[in-house]
Amino acid sequence: MERNYHTHTPRCNHAFNTEREFVEGAIEAGMKVLGFSDHSPYIFDGDYYSTFRMRPEMVEDYVTSILRLKEEYKRDIEIHVGLEMEYYPKYFERLCRFLEDFPLEYALLGQHCMENEIGAHYSGTYTEDFGLLQMFVDQMIEAFSVGKWLYVAHPDILNYPYNRPEYRTEMRRLCVAAKERGIPLEINLLGLKTRRSYPNRPFWETAAEVGNEVVLGVDAHKVEWLVMPEIEEEAMGWVRELGLKMAPDFELGVGRHIGLR
Ligand SMILES: [Zn+2]
Ligand SMILES: [Zn+2]
Repeated sequence: MERNYHTHTPRCNHAFNTEREFVEGAIEAGMKVLGFSDHSPYIFDGDYYSTFRMRPEMVEDYVTSILRLKEEYKRDIEIHVGLEMEYYPKYFERLCRFLEDFPLEYALLGQHCMENEIGAHYSGTYTEDFGLLQMFVDQMIEAFSVGKWLYVAHPDILNYPYNRPEYRTEMRRLCVAAKERGIPLEINLLGLKTRRSYPNRPFWETAAEVGNEVVLGVDAHKVEWLVMPEIEEEAMGWVRELGLKMAPDFELGVGRHIGLR
């Protein structure tokens, strides 16, 4: 894989290598572009803290350390700095204002929880509740219209029985809205590798019918995941069999794919 925009760092408490190790691993693997998109902080009300994301006070060190590596390795690889973030309506604007002070280039929309996270459904937890499926799709469509996104990470993260007809109907709404906004969708290689409920075939058949643009994302929490040729080949097999359209290379710039629309 030459380009990966989905890479984490230990600031989210569940990634195992430093940004330098990821950069050196990517160069060794012959990659051309490495984008960091660690789990964004969120500034919640009260003293709630979610453990799978960096704290707001870590953003400065996150950005500066990646920019330092970008300069240090500029002859070997193109490095970019972004974040993976949820869209939580109650807190999104506050977060965007906070992030304005940092030279971030992009955001991936990765909706790990619904509503505003606190007390809400975790997207990866199995559910047969059709109301949750609808709510997930509604929230994603609202996210497309409120925020600027480079692409949607694991758009099929909501763990609902994906062979049911209503799954396709709902996911078609998501795919159509993403297409209208020109936001590509990610086939998540970590999910494929660990046989999660995503990426799932019915979702990608729907995306193929709608004609969405597609990106492969490693979702690297360990440096060795940057090189997974069988998994990458499996994902490319889906792309070929379903006739999915790969997104063109991204043009990045500070603030261009992050913040409020
Ligand atoms: Zn994610
Ligand atoms: Zn991720």
